[in-house]
Amino acid sequence: MYAELFRLDGRTAFVTGGSRGIGLACAEALGEAGATVALSSRSRDEGEAAAAALQGKGIRAIYLPADLSTEKAAQEAVRRAADELGGLDILVNNAGIARHCDSLALPPETWDEVIATNLTGLFWCCRAALERMVAAGRGSIVNVGSISGFISNLPQNQVAYNASKAGVHMLTKSLAGEFAQQNIRINAVAPGYIETAMTRGGLDDPEWSKIWLGMTPMRRSGTPSEVAAAVLFLASDAASYITGSVLTIDGGYTIH
Ligand code: NDP
Repeated sequence: MYAELFRLDGRTAFVTGGSRGIGLACAEALGEAGATVALSSRSRDEGEAAAAALQGKGIRAIYLPADLSTEKAAQEAVRRAADELGGLDILVNNAGIARHCDSLALPPETWDEVIATNLTGLFWCCRAALERMVAAGRGSIVNVGSISGFISNLPQNQVAYNASKAGVHMLTKSLAGEFAQQNIRINAVAPGYIETAMTRGGLDDPEWSKIWLGMTPMRRSGTPSEVAAAVLFLASDAASYITGSVLTIDGGYTIH
């Protein structure tokens, strides 16, 4: 009975930023569980290759190019995904960018870029999905937040990123309350340091890596699949009484 709760056969899922890293692992996890998956990114070649790789593993996957950093494009991308998939049961809002910069040197366009991608676009993806989910009478949204929504990272300064992720966590709780009685669950994950293109530079830097992993009780970085497993759980009926949660996946980083 319990294993069945994690199955997503017959369901449809859209994973933003599914072309690599955590998003690609999420698409694979949801697809392995039986969902038909759409994934998006700005880089078409990488996105098409990701969808082809999933198809090679027997997963029904399609690729939709989209820059999700504006209201219009974000809503259009979700509507198109729902149309092409024939419905939208699950949305994983994973697309995101990080920019390191001291606050006194932060260019306005960097602040705007980070907030637009990580927070504004994510809200409009939720909005477009919620319209469909309300009409369908069910749905599950998983937003990818970060430990940076709880703590201020060391040694890098990244005020826009941290603010955007704190926003994602609160947006998740706010929407969860608003749609709880409509059979729509909205949760988030808050990963710590995960090995992806986003963190490659820091993990390869001996000084940064010493700080990052030294502050992580498990003394290692996480893998995209370790986030994807939690996203699958939250997206599935195994989490049927969970909404408004922000699940931390950080090797213990935030226990201090
Ligand atoms: P990657 O850089 O490997 O992947 C980011 C994905 O988002 C890519 O598919 C990228 O494709 C897509 N993306 C970025 N900007 C846009 C945009 N404007 N429109 C559409 N797609 C976009 O990063 P990760 O896998 O590490 O990160 C995934 C999520 O996890 C992010 O939200 C990140 O903040 C979060 N996270 C990551 C952590 C880590 O340690 N790696 C820790 C905590 C949270 P393209 O560039 O082609 O558009």
